[in-house]
Amino acid sequence: MRNMFTAVFISGCFLLFCAPLYPSVVRISIFNEHFLSAVVITPHDGEYIVSGDREEVLVLKENDVLYISRKGEGLFISSRSGSPGIFESVSVRATAPGHGIGIRPLQPSLEEVLYHGDLYMTVNYGRISMINETDKSLYLAGVVEAESGTGAAAMYYKAQAVICRTYLYNSLHRHADEGFDLCDEVHCQAYKGRMTGNKVILEAVKATSGKVITCEEGKLIPAVFHANCGGQTASSDNVWLQSKSCLQPVTDPWCRGRPGSLWQKTIDASEWKSYLVSMGFNENSGQNSSAGFDMRQQNRSFFYRVGDFAIPYRKIRADWNLRSAYFDIETAGQGSKILIRGRGYGHGAGLCQEGAMVMAVKGYNFIDILQFYYTGISIADIEQLF
Ligand SMILES: [Zn+2]
Ligand SMILES: [Zn+2]
Repeated sequence: MRNMFTAVFISGCFLLFCAPLYPSVVRISIFNEHFLSAVVITPHDGEYIVSGDREEVLVLKENDVLYISRKGEGLFISSRSGSPGIFESVSVRATAPGHGIGIRPLQPSLEEVLYHGDLYMTVNYGRISMINETDKSLYLAGVVEAESGTGAAAMYYKAQAVICRTYLYNSLHRHADEGFDLCDEVHCQAYKGRMTGNKVILEAVKATSGKVITCEEGKLIPAVFHANCGGQTASSDNVWLQSKSCLQPVTDPWCRGRPGSLWQKTIDASEWKSYLVSMGFNENSGQNSSAGFDMRQQNRSFFYRVGDFAIPYRKIRADWNLRSAYFDIETAGQGSKILIRGRGYGHGAGLCQEGAMVMAVKGYNFIDILQFYYTGISIADIEQLF
């Protein structure tokens, strides 16, 4: 008896000290940017239990259809087998892990998206709020696919999985007041449901399980990334006016010649001058000849200057909807045109995805790739960090 008590006590302590700090599931607000008022839900594989106000009301089998619409502050649900009524909250829970369920919004009308895990719905500010509670690995695989597509090498997906996991833990409390962990928009991380294209992505997520990127006394880094840096990454100061030791400019030979590496745009010189004047440029200052507009960015610079006038490149990027803030300005057409010759795609800070994809093909491992783009970082296990 004493032995048994001791065994229970020890195993209790073991569980207490060894239990993971973080749950293995994550709660994502899906269709977060849409004002949903009616949806159709269909299991693609497996059975799902539907509950209204925590009471089981229906079992959905594969290809069954559940219709849900907002009625005032409640949710009206119906299926082929009848309508159980109107509820404040509705859940649709998988009877086994790994099952997939489709959600097709009817109002507004959107394409069906597939999800793993369970769904929780309420009415919030006049719209259907939908939360997908799913396993973190499956969520991360969906995010990695949404952020980087399906055609890259396995080692690239490992690097991207560690980045997306770091981003996940950095963002976990952003929506704590709203009853979920993250939204499915770029505000947190793009998530378009379950991974569909490449099982190598899920393997990469599992192979790097728990791994995150740290710097500065073991703190998680802002794991930012972009499509193509144009040959040199940007410092965090340059993009967000905030200095981060891990986000320093890196000369990148790997992304040259990739789809996002070069671009150009032509603007009428008169239009360009009007824009600069609207930003405070004084056209009578003697600096208004069209040749005076020319400027090269040998390395990434902060300001575009014409005489005494200066405007941040990133401001020009935003105003003209340019692919990057890394561009040269040349006059063309005998002074009638302004040619913007750009490099890269995205804000330019952190990992360059097209460069990292080339590094992976060349045989670099995911730690080499991460250490190339993020300065002075370490790879740590999230459970050992705090
Ligand atoms: Zn968010
Ligand atoms: Zn690059």
